[in-house]
Amino acid sequence: MIPGNDPILLTPGPLSTAPQTREAMLRDWGSWDAAFNRMTHSVCADLVKIVHGENDYVCVPLQGSGTFAVEAALGTLVPRQGCVLVPNNGAYCARLIRILQRMGIAYVELTLREDEPVGAAAIEDALNRESRITHVAQVHLETSAGLLNPLDDIAAVCQRHGKSLIVDAMSSFGALPIDLRRGGIDALISASGKCLEGVPGMGFVIVRRSVLERSEGRSPSLALDLYDQYVYMEKTTQWRFTPPTHVVAALRQALDQFFAQGGQAARGARYTQNCAALISGMKALGFEPLLKPDVQAPVIVTFYAPRDPAWNFANFYAAVREAGYVLYPGKLTQVDTFRVGCIGAIDADELRNAVAAIDRTLKWLGIRVK
Ligand SMILES: *Cc1c(COP(=O)(O)O)cnc(C)c1O
Repeated sequence: MIPGNDPILLTPGPLSTAPQTREAMLRDWGSWDAAFNRMTHSVCADLVKIVHGENDYVCVPLQGSGTFAVEAALGTLVPRQGCVLVPNNGAYCARLIRILQRMGIAYVELTLREDEPVGAAAIEDALNRESRITHVAQVHLETSAGLLNPLDDIAAVCQRHGKSLIVDAMSSFGALPIDLRRGGIDALISASGKCLEGVPGMGFVIVRRSVLERSEGRSPSLALDLYDQYVYMEKTTQWRFTPPTHVVAALRQALDQFFAQGGQAARGARYTQNCAALISGMKALGFEPLLKPDVQAPVIVTFYAPRDPAWNFANFYAAVREAGYVLYPGKLTQVDTFRVGCIGAIDADELRNAVAAIDRTLKWLGIRVK
């Protein structure tokens, strides 16, 4: 870190943003301002375009972090008497279950290890076994470990069985290919401050218009009612309730950069390079990633913590923070790990610098990795 400079966030949201994105927040907007409402509209249209949903899908933005949008989607799109299959391989899957429990909606949990992607066959088995299942709620990229679930295969199974698929694509949207034209997905949820490299504060749900239009009066929550938010916006062009104006302006600017840099393919390629630089650098220091390469998504990497008794994540975190990089604690229940994100407005050189900072810090703290 250059003295006086902000540290680089190697966390999967909030993350390091481009200076132009932060500069886009230097003016104020009124919620009635026609230019602001046009900006919201253009952001939503672009979000739908990224996943090729132009014909049949609408984007409903929502104030709040990603979880607000997840809760809004489940509450608005699943009928009270529905039953949701939740394949569970991490903390964000478990959060889906907690939301369903709060709303009193029935669910079937498909329990997996935290390093084990769900197979389409396991989903098919569950659908055959439990005919009461009406919906599947699937986390695309389980950010707990950095695990990629096979979305296309899962969507194909849901389509074949006529089940409504709701996808938490929070940490994959914009970086990994998702194509709604392939069919099988009714709703996709993500947020401003992850792979789109905006600032946090706005979630959004890209939902099949015909499914949303059947959802009137269903949400148990006023603020999290996607149907009301959509209808109000269509009617007035404005947000229902105070909009996150600066977040929208930053996301508009971040999307301009996203398209100028080559869209999803380019974003995914940069993150893949970042991830490869991170893993090879950390391996050279003696660290082992938790996941096998074929299920590792290029967004966040979980490493086993050193066995050295001198290891203490809080001390290590603080020292690496001093060296200019913000790491992330592990989020696994079974093993001692820590995580390093490779998303944000950073390139592979930044990851190499981060590995060098980690190396210096370990030596300074006297920690042996192996
Ligand atoms: C970040 C994230 C969320 C939302 O978490 P918030 O803390 O509400 O932003 C949901 N699901 C996944 C997979 C995520 O990575």
